[in-house]
Amino acid sequence: MYYVGVDLGATNIRTVVSDETATILGRAQDETPHGPTGKTVTETVLRVVREACDHVGVRPTDIDGAGIASMGTMDPTARVITVPANVSTEIGSIPLVDPLSETLDTDNVHLRNDTVAGVIGERFYTYPRAENLVYITISSGIGVGIIADGDVISGRDGNAGEMGHMTIDVHGFMECGCGQDGHWEAYCSGNNIPQFVRALHQENPVETALPIDSLEFSAKHLFERSGTDAFADHVIDRLAHFNTVGVANIVHAYDPAAISIGGAVALNNPEHVVEPIKSRLDEAVLVEPPEINLSEQGSQVVLKGALTLAITNGTEIQPPA
Ligand SMILES: [Zn+2]
Repeated sequence: MYYVGVDLGATNIRTVVSDETATILGRAQDETPHGPTGKTVTETVLRVVREACDHVGVRPTDIDGAGIASMGTMDPTARVITVPANVSTEIGSIPLVDPLSETLDTDNVHLRNDTVAGVIGERFYTYPRAENLVYITISSGIGVGIIADGDVISGRDGNAGEMGHMTIDVHGFMECGCGQDGHWEAYCSGNNIPQFVRALHQENPVETALPIDSLEFSAKHLFERSGTDAFADHVIDRLAHFNTVGVANIVHAYDPAAISIGGAVALNNPEHVVEPIKSRLDEAVLVEPPEINLSEQGSQVVLKGALTLAITNGTEIQPPA
């Protein structure tokens, strides 16, 4: 048996082909085209899937099932996605399930948003049969995937887990990309950390080695200056504060046994992003704090979640041992 996993991100399309034991046999990837139409993206996904099949030496029609994890917003029937405005304003919807079903000649094709796929992958590969598990990605944005009482929480349209847009600062110091004030990702996501640093510095223009006026200034520069620049340390402390508030809200909502944190900002800076949450969470929650870990599956977790959907025929669960 052969299965395909697809991770459609804002930057890259990544695909894998595996056997029924989830052993990855081949991969292919390409950049995600930002238009001109949604169909352009669909065609690129299909081409990258065919390339991965070629690497393994199987025909697309030999594939027994596929899972797709995608950026963007699911439509109510979860067969297409709508691209968020920060990726492209004109691309429209991207058909995914039907064209891939046709290419692979199978109805076993499942689409989920990327953080839902992330928690599915985390359970399958890291926490088998976990009943209460949360996956958080702190990347260009912030998103959350939740398994509560054994069930993956998808929401009405498959769009549950948009907790990057949870208000963590009622005073609304920072404006989010979505237009609202005080949202978690307006402070702590990779795309927004530079603006947060600049806003703090404007309030308190102390001496700093951070290249905050450079167009190139990014979260990477901030974390590199940890321990050598007092202002950088101050900002990292504020990020830890807001991340802890976000995680505490999730703990109070779902009472998870474990929280796995991934996404580039966390994966590249675990000591400045994940460790402070670990050490501060006890004081921030009134329930038993969960185990907090950096995702063991790293940047592969969403792709592995997509593959899990294919192998489990969309049931999202670990096969019996
Ligand atoms: Zn927002």
